[in-house]
Amino acid sequence: MPSKDNFEFTETELLDLEVGEVLLKALYISVDPYMRGRMSDAKSYVAPYEVGKPIIGGAVAEVVESRNEQLPKGTVVVGSLPWQQYTVHAGKGLLPVDPEVAPLSYYLGVLGMPGQTAYFGLLHIGQPKAGETVVVSGAAGAVGTVVGQIAKLKGCRVVGIAGSDDKITYLREELGFDEAINYKTTDDINSAVAQACPDGVDVYFDNVGGEISDAVLLALNKFGRIAVCGQIAFYNSTTPPTGMRIEPILLKKSALMKGFIVSDYSSEFGSAAKELATWLQEGKLQYQETIKEGFDQLPEAFLGLFTGENTGKQLVKVADREG
Ligand code: NAP
Repeated sequence: MPSKDNFEFTETELLDLEVGEVLLKALYISVDPYMRGRMSDAKSYVAPYEVGKPIIGGAVAEVVESRNEQLPKGTVVVGSLPWQQYTVHAGKGLLPVDPEVAPLSYYLGVLGMPGQTAYFGLLHIGQPKAGETVVVSGAAGAVGTVVGQIAKLKGCRVVGIAGSDDKITYLREELGFDEAINYKTTDDINSAVAQACPDGVDVYFDNVGGEISDAVLLALNKFGRIAVCGQIAFYNSTTPPTGMRIEPILLKKSALMKGFIVSDYSSEFGSAAKELATWLQEGKLQYQETIKEGFDQLPEAFLGLFTGENTGKQLVKVADREG
């Protein structure tokens, strides 16, 4: 488990803008569980962070000075940016966002990477059908809340698994989940899942892995689908995870289990963003954020992901918009 001692704040001079460059002021910075993987030199799907260099991740920022005609002063963009209050940026790979469509922070959550993750993992791999039972772990987080609500829109019975009574109440009462299980207070997760899913599990959206996932797999129905999105239970492990052998279940249930990285679907991001924005505007998707205020809160906000501090998307608000 990382600690605040692993982070360091430094100040540096900003260089003058060259032609084509913009000066970005960070407004919201996203903290995400996958960043933990980049704090290790183990081979993965993205390069590790470099010790002594800023962490890079999703952020919403405002152009406050510009030498780039495509990105005039006042433009708000979303992009992969260093954890910095101000950044001199080459101007490429930034996506302008419309503050009229949704609050700016939503572009890091339901209308951004976590929303897309929920959308593609559930609809492409899970392929939920009306009347089926969908279980999602990490249910009260950025991805899980969207997964459960899309599954409800598709007419499914939805069961969420999360780590506090407040989260359970939120899932049931605010988001309309049919059942929710607090895995931290349940004595027997296997029977809790079996009870919450009397007709078995058709789709499992796995955000966490470990014993929670074993319990869901034991309740899997024939032709079940499992979208492996995250394994946060192991992100701080120093030894390879071990546990139940799942192949006999996949075999006996003719089940499909597939891992994915949201960028696998990048060619379809535009259409998914439109559909997510429509559901949001029509009031079919509820959305919650946990926002810490101040750039210096970044380490704490990040570390809180591993102790369940957040409900919905965890963000840090760095500054107000100037324009
Ligand atoms: P999140 O759910 O908003 O935040 C993390 C949550 O995980 C915490 O609030 C906590 O909630 C739960 N958690 C932490 N440690 C846990 C443990 N040991 N066992 C069970 N639950 C634990 O995060 P997110 O951004 O929506 O991401 C959810 C998962 O999806 C993560 O695993 C992430 O890596 C993955 N992800 C994958 C992709 C992809 O492309 N495949 C993209 C985005 C996210 P509780 O209070 O419920 O414990």
